[in-house]
Amino acid sequence: MVDPVKLKKEQSSYRTTILLYHQIGETLHNNVNPDCFCSRQKFLEQMEFLKSSSIEVISLDRALITLFSEGQPQKDQVVLTFDDGCESFYDVAHPILEKYGFPATIYPVVGSLGKVANWNGIIYPQLKILDQQKLITLSKNGVEIGGHTMNHVKLDQVQKKDAFQEIKNCKTELEQILNKEIRTFAYPHGRHNSTVMEIVQCVGFKNALTCESNYANNAPSIFEIPRKYITYYDDLRSFKNKLLIHETISSI
Ligand SMILES: [Zn+2]
Repeated sequence: MVDPVKLKKEQSSYRTTILLYHQIGETLHNNVNPDCFCSRQKFLEQMEFLKSSSIEVISLDRALITLFSEGQPQKDQVVLTFDDGCESFYDVAHPILEKYGFPATIYPVVGSLGKVANWNGIIYPQLKILDQQKLITLSKNGVEIGGHTMNHVKLDQVQKKDAFQEIKNCKTELEQILNKEIRTFAYPHGRHNSTVMEIVQCVGFKNALTCESNYANNAPSIFEIPRKYITYYDDLRSFKNKLLIHETISSI
């Protein structure tokens, strides 16, 4: 038998979904991981959908204040995050976000600024990373910049002292480049454990995001906030399913 009180609670529980994008581009090149690519056209459709829906697109800070200080949200909410600091964020995604007035947070790999991606010994010639000047321009335009290590290492697989350097140095360097406090961190590959989380907190980050596929409402802590991956394969239908928006739930 259905418990009417529980059902009512479930139907009225709004979700905060933090979306995880990487490269937004025109063409998926051969050696680019489709899981880390979204076409410009699909991205545009997704943003158009968000604009026309009842979902609020809000900053990461705003979402975390709601979830960790004020209680559950009163509307479905979405936060847009972009890992690695791909140059295409500047050229392709940011103009679209500006058009819709959506805030965003990006997590550049600091050791790759102004170069092509070179992670774990593999070079990705088609994956250009933002240079310092573009990063400064984005920051001045209101885009939040977060830490994502110096070299995109798997933090749970390196020595503690190396993890510390990777995490601490990316914060220090970004703060020197941007002349502002860097508050948020995203674990490369989502890889983390209790030691890594402790370092992130210890060096002064205020929150950290994983790649665990879940709603931010279900975050075990402010240093383990889940996100939903958007990939090359997502069409508008699967995009909506990842949001599991309130309207969809009510109509089931
Ligand atoms: Zn990454």
